[in-house]
Amino acid sequence: MQSMEKNKESKKGGREQRGSWKAFAAFFRHAKLSWGWIILSLVVNIAYYSVVSHLPGSTAALFAGNFSREAFIIAVVNYTSLCVLQALVSLIMLIATSKSVRSVRCAVWQRMMGIEGKYYDSNSASSLLSAVTSDTENTVASLLSTIVLIPGLLTYLATSIPLLSSYSPKLLAVVFVLIPIYILYSFFMGRWQCKVGFRIQMRIGGLTGFLTERIRNLTLIKSFVTEKEEEKKGLDAAKELSKANVEYSYVTGVAVAFSLLTEAVGVVIAVIWGCMLLRNGEIDLTAWLAFFLFVPMINTVLRQLSTTWSNLKDVQGRAARLGALMEAPQENMNEQAGTDIPVGDIVLNKVAFSYREDAPVLKDVTMVIPRGKTTAIVGPSGSGKTTILRLLEKLYTPQAGNITVGGQALDELNLSAWRDRLSYVNQDAELFSGTVRQALTYGITRDVDDAELERAARLAGIYDFIMEKPEGFDSELAIWGVSMSGGQRQRMVIARELLKKADILLLDEPTSALDTETAAAISNTFFTDFAGKTIITVTHELNYISHADQIVVLKAGQVEAIGTHEELIACSETYRGLVEEHSYQEVFGQ
Ligand code: ADP
Repeated sequence: MQSMEKNKESKKGGREQRGSWKAFAAFFRHAKLSWGWIILSLVVNIAYYSVVSHLPGSTAALFAGNFSREAFIIAVVNYTSLCVLQALVSLIMLIATSKSVRSVRCAVWQRMMGIEGKYYDSNSASSLLSAVTSDTENTVASLLSTIVLIPGLLTYLATSIPLLSSYSPKLLAVVFVLIPIYILYSFFMGRWQCKVGFRIQMRIGGLTGFLTERIRNLTLIKSFVTEKEEEKKGLDAAKELSKANVEYSYVTGVAVAFSLLTEAVGVVIAVIWGCMLLRNGEIDLTAWLAFFLFVPMINTVLRQLSTTWSNLKDVQGRAARLGALMEAPQENMNEQAGTDIPVGDIVLNKVAFSYREDAPVLKDVTMVIPRGKTTAIVGPSGSGKTTILRLLEKLYTPQAGNITVGGQALDELNLSAWRDRLSYVNQDAELFSGTVRQALTYGITRDVDDAELERAARLAGIYDFIMEKPEGFDSELAIWGVSMSGGQRQRMVIARELLKKADILLLDEPTSALDTETAAAISNTFFTDFAGKTIITVTHELNYISHADQIVVLKAGQVEAIGTHEELIACSETYRGLVEEHSYQEVFGQ
């Protein structure tokens, strides 16, 4: 039984491993690294390490008393080229890294803009934010240093080992003593460092997510008087992070101590071994001095190589996470389809949809939304009303059934052209910062003059508020955006949507943030300004329902009834229940 479990786990582990290598490959496919600069730094780095490997020989000749012109020139040339190459490597690496970070960040951002809506459901905003900012920077920096460093280190070993052996093959014995020490070092230290490093990353992620959510909901914290609890939770999260950081400092301290100790042991072994060979006449003074100068660098190179595997695993993991994001399914924009969108009724035909496999949200939903008419979708909360609007916007695709517009399947339409025809107003009242003019004309490509702006602002009931600002339509929204009430933001959004002049209006409780009087005024605006256009409104408010040409009653993801108010009162129990609720009674006086 246990072995079966283990087998399953190892199979799962294998699948994840393969998945992560696939995502790693995807990273390279999508990320446009600055290969020219990377190859240049790789070449210069190799040149640097081959000069380093020749340094002990030339220095040893001078130390041994060879003051010939040739020995002197070789030493000077070696040291000079070492300085120049080191400066060049640093400079070129900086250029390669910053250029690569920029293009990887662009690639991540571009892919992120095109990702299907459902991806955003399973990934928090803070993790997506860190993918574009710190993850990109850290991943590229460690990837490039690994790519550039390893060939340099190998070059060093490949050149210095024959050089050492040319003095005496017996000198190489030291290298073979050091190798197992470093293998042990990497086995324990590398794994320990990796584990603690991962814990730090997770805790930073947790703390960032926690802080983002709390800062966004400060008013909620205040209204529930939970400042003390939240303060404690924040401090606990910070304490956990600091604990991991302290542990990491210990690990680093032990690692540094261990490498100093190994270097000292290496030097002692080298001195004893070299002296023995010198005393026995197996090497001369120059060879002994060169050997003595080789040992510290060989130590360093072996130590760096020993952590290569854990570094590679770390870089692979980071790049794979970005690769998975860049590989996430993209929206099919269907750009080859023409931009002419058919005019006609919108039909949902046996539509079934679920966000998660195990929880169906819409089941067999069939309805006709007549062109140029108003359709109100009502139903208990969670019955799937907003989901229908999302499917119409094509943020999600139904798993079964289809949606047609004027007889043509929604899937076959040019998605940008289709979305251009839609106006979507919901309760969130999202606005970008910038000037009022920029916020109101967001996404509009035609020229919008002041007269048109004024008309839309007046219709949305926000004109006087804008004009109170010193620069009117050119006032900076970011400065006073925070001082706008929910209702004012909502009116700005409504003015923006009026300017969009779309043919199909999707309204999702659009006036829920407004007082009854303003809500009624604005709903009248919608119905006069959009007269003759298709309006689909999800609402509890009877201002809208009373204007509707047809009402769709949705219950638990299914259409219970479709009809006018009078018809539904007669035939739909759910509708009657809704009407009996307070807000419905207000308007209909039932
Ligand atoms: P309504 O608008 O009628 O209140 P929704 O369409 O918003 O209902 O939601 C229908 C169901 O789908 C609810 O059970 C809700 O929890 C679920 N749901 C909505 N959005 C998501 C999402 N992004 N991921 C998973 N489930 C969701």
